[in-house]
Amino acid sequence: MENKEYKLALWPAFVHAKCPRCRRGDMFTNSMYGFHGQVMHKTCPHCGLVYEREPGYFYVAMFASYALNVAEMVTIAVAISVLTGSNNPWLYVTIILAIALILAPFNFRYSRVMLLYWLTPGLHYHPEMSQDKPN
Ligand SMILES: [Zn+2]
Repeated sequence: MENKEYKLALWPAFVHAKCPRCRRGDMFTNSMYGFHGQVMHKTCPHCGLVYEREPGYFYVAMFASYALNVAEMVTIAVAISVLTGSNNPWLYVTIILAIALILAPFNFRYSRVMLLYWLTPGLHYHPEMSQDKPN
């Protein structure tokens, strides 16, 4: 049987939170907005990459999460200003905090994905690891 080599694209793997090394295995066990919180696999189910490289590694993801939050809040504030032209600070505070709460699971997930895809030295895509496993 012929085992054809193929490469998986970066952005679909990033958006679907796939393993940065093989782009096949899921990083999270469940959906972003489930009722049981987000649970991350300890290792990639496809290639076995250990996601938490050292104890406390995902504390670094807080910086990515902070950057995402600031970018979202500034964008929302500008949008409120342009759309309503209001000077009422309570309008801004209410809408910004509500949207920050709604986006919290998104920020949690993608701060970890960003950390593993862009901020981890020496972790790259290995196309040979995305091949089907021999049965
Ligand atoms: Zn993997």
